Amino acid sequence: MIITIDGPAASGKSTIARMTAEHLSFYYLNTGLLYRAVTYLLINKHEYSQQDLTTIKDGDVSEYTDIKRFVYSYTAQEGSVVIYDNQDITGFLKDPLIDSSVSLISPQKNVREALSHLQRESAQDHDVVVEGRDVGSVVFPHADYKFFLTASLEVRAQRWRKYQDEKGNYYSLDRVKELVEQRDLQDKTRKISPLVVPSKAITIDNSKLTLEESIQEILKHINN
Ligand code: C5P
Repeated sequence: MIITIDGPAASGKSTIARMTAEHLSFYYLNTGLLYRAVTYLLINKHEYSQQDLTTIKDGDVSEYTDIKRFVYSYTAQEGSVVIYDNQDITGFLKDPLIDSSVSLISPQKNVREALSHLQRESAQDHDVVVEGRDVGSVVFPHADYKFFLTASLEVRAQRWRKYQDEKGNYYSLDRVKELVEQRDLQDKTRKISPLVVPSKAITIDNSKLTLEESIQEILKHINN
């Protein structure tokens, strides 16, 4: 069974998708981490500048999405892990530099094709909860259940700010709103696989829901 959860930045997708997977004892695929990992590798291994990130060479995409070297794995105990050349790079993928750079690489066709392929490979042979921006619309259009998770800009900005505070990155609420809005705009307006509500997806606005309520809202639709 494939369950997709799409939605904008800081809509709570990652936590809700992971906990839904745990409830169902399903595999969990966090596709944002894949885009983040490729961004990290381009900056750190190939010294791509912000400008370079807007046009990634095909050879570099192939190098960083080669399934012999780039591995995503998930276990309920360890969560999601991304390994490249036997090195665990997961801890670097939520840094502010990656946050602000990832939307530069995600509009590019070569990157999306390679990562969509990787997602389909990773989901094979599993019952899976997949979360991202285009997983119900493009990567798994025939998913068994599709959800679109959202919340007001105010609530999403507050969540993101709290998360950054905990990591020691301090921002004003206005600056956070700007950053979240900017990423939304980039994701919604790109030509290839923009962030949309997938056809037949159930939309859940969780601005006023707790995590557990959001998960229950999803689970009540699923006949497992
Ligand atoms: O979900 P997360 O914030 O980790 O995603 C980071 C970025 O990766 C998004 O802002 C988007 O640009 C890109 N992304 C995407 N398609 C996906 C998942 C993530 O374009 N399926």
